[in-house]
Parts: sequence; structure tokens; C-alpha cells
Amino acid sequence: MRAVVCRGPGKIAVEEIDDPKPLEGEVKLRIAAVGVCHTDLNFSSGNVPVPFPIVLGHEGAGVIVEVGPGVRGLRPGDHVVCSIIGPCEECFQCLRDDPALCEGAPMFTGKMLDGTTRLSKGGEPIHTLHYQGSFAEYAVVPERFVTKIRDDAPLEIVCGLACGVTTGLGAAIHRAKVEPGSSVVVIGSGGVGLSTMMGARFRGATTVVAVDRIARKARKAVELGFATHAVDASVDDVVRAVQDVTRGRGADYAFDAVGVPGTLEQAIAATRPGATVVVIGRAMGSVELRVETSALLRHRTLTGTFGGSVHPRRHLPEFVELCMQGRLDLAGILDTRYTLDEAPRALDDLHHGRVTRGVIVLEN
Ligand SMILES: [Zn+2]
Ligand SMILES: [Zn+2]
Repeated sequence: MRAVVCRGPGKIAVEEIDDPKPLEGEVKLRIAAVGVCHTDLNFSSGNVPVPFPIVLGHEGAGVIVEVGPGVRGLRPGDHVVCSIIGPCEECFQCLRDDPALCEGAPMFTGKMLDGTTRLSKGGEPIHTLHYQGSFAEYAVVPERFVTKIRDDAPLEIVCGLACGVTTGLGAAIHRAKVEPGSSVVVIGSGGVGLSTMMGARFRGATTVVAVDRIARKARKAVELGFATHAVDASVDDVVRAVQDVTRGRGADYAFDAVGVPGTLEQAIAATRPGATVVVIGRAMGSVELRVETSALLRHRTLTGTFGGSVHPRRHLPEFVELCMQGRLDLAGILDTRYTLDEAPRALDDLHHGRVTRGVIVLEN
């Protein structure tokens, strides 16, 4: 099969590799579409260490073509979307119903759950990004990282639910539980930021401020109807702009979907006492944070989300349903389609901010 193999920082090419076979508890899917996420970029650029060679891609959606022994919930022909969350249903965190924190699947090892690799090229082992490696014609994925969805959902639109789109939606809907009538500021108006705004609007937020250093991105959030106000962070005073639209009080919720030095301080400063501040994304990054203790003493909650804090089997079909009903505009944030051969360009476009959400669509 053809797959996008990364053999070191910046070394990405489409290669012909061996067809993978699902083992115990695994399914094989024909990938129909796969989103291009900043996390792919972090690995392909070497920002976050992973074992090479590795097949990138972790926002895959497709159709099951084969199931391994012991697979009970999925069968060939099922339309599915993958997830970065794969609850084992038996660890401490899964039993306390926080599946995003599952202790049974270490992140970014490049290996499958049994500690081996499933991909190869003439005997050479090839790693898999986060149990998925979906920049490929086929992917072998543990059953628990795969969710069946309705057959008529357009896979190129819903594949983002595997990671970026769900992270944003879930941050607002499941983590912060944004309340109707509230005010929200989202720093970063890329794919995850837009999804966060979409989630906040879905929950009934009436004021949503989109912030970005690229003015056109913040404006696009307003044009799409996800935000009510746009702030150009390259010239405007973000905190002041938020105060202006919240009667000088500050926002009820702030989301930092950027995670570079200064943005989290800005998010906290833009909120009112008693507000909730949520850190999103940058799974393996770090920023130094200087926070006034008085900001926290005044009842602010500072938290984060992994993968939108969802339970994939429960929540992904709900998101798909809302999308099909036209209540979540997942199609609105998709702006660029690529072929598998164009994957290196897709990553380059994302790196240079030329695209909001890119999707690789495979022609099978
Ligand atoms: Zn678990
Ligand atoms: Zn991702």
C-alpha cells in the first residue's frame, strides 16, 4: 500500500510499504479521508521526538475491510472515524469515567498496544503515529480507538472528529460546559480554535471573541458565524478588546488554542473573576506561565483538555448526528483538500498558516 513515511525531521515522502494485517483486537480500515493536524507537524519537524521511520496521520476516517480475532463491535463495511482517545474501560481513569485520561495507552511510542509495530517495508519495521498512521491507503488500529458512525456521513467532513475538531468542540461542550448567554474568548482561530467557537455557540454563548495574530483568520470566524467579534492580536490589545464587549468585566470563559509564551497569561487576564480558563492543544509542549495569585484567588479555574475530554463511542456519533442535522457546521472549517501524494505540501501549508483545516482525500 502507499503511505506517507517520515524518516527523520523534514524527511517525508510517499512510499510503497507492505500491506498490514490486523492482529488480536485490531481492525483494518481503508482510509477515505484524513485531516492534517498540528501534531503531525510537530512530529514531522522533529519538535516532538518520535521513533522513525513512522507513518503520520491521526485523523483518519474510512471503511472497515478486515477485523482481527476478538473484535466484537465492528465488522467489514462499517463506516468509522478513529480517535486519539481509546478507552480501555478497565483502568483507574476509565472506571472514574474520564476516558481521555486512560492509563492503558501510552502516547507517542510509535508502537501498537502490544509493544510491537504493525507496519513494515520488506522486513524493516515502520512505526505508527498514535495507534493509527492514517496518512496511508490502509490503517490497522486497535478496536477501542475506532468508532462506528452512520453510513451517510461524509467522511472528509467528519474525519476531523478524530482529533482537532473534537478537541475544540469538546473543550467548550464537555470540559468547560459553556453556559447559555455567556461570553467566551478563544485565542487562536485555526481549525481547533474555530471548533471551540462552534462548540461555544452550540452551547448558547452569545458573545464569542475570536483572536488571532493573522487578522483574516479571526475575521473568518465571524464570517462563518462562529464568533461575534474579531480581534487582530498583532495590533489590538486583546484584554481591552474583550473588556469592551463584556461591560468591562472580562469573559466568562477563555480558551488558549495557541499555547505560545504569553497567550495563556492573556487568556487569564481577559476573564472575569470566577471564570474558567481552558488550555487546548500542544500535547507535548511547554510554556512558562507567570500568574498573579490574586487571579486564581478570585475563583478562576485554570484547566485543560485532552482530545476534548470526550468518550469517543458516546460523543462522536452525537457530533456526527448534529453535523448531519446542520447544527454543527463541520464543513465550514474545511478549506483545502489534498491527495495522498500532496501530504508534504499539506504539512508545509499548515506550518506557514496558509490553511485553516486541510484534509487528505483518498480516491479509492
Ligand atoms: Zn483506561
Ligand atoms: Zn491532532
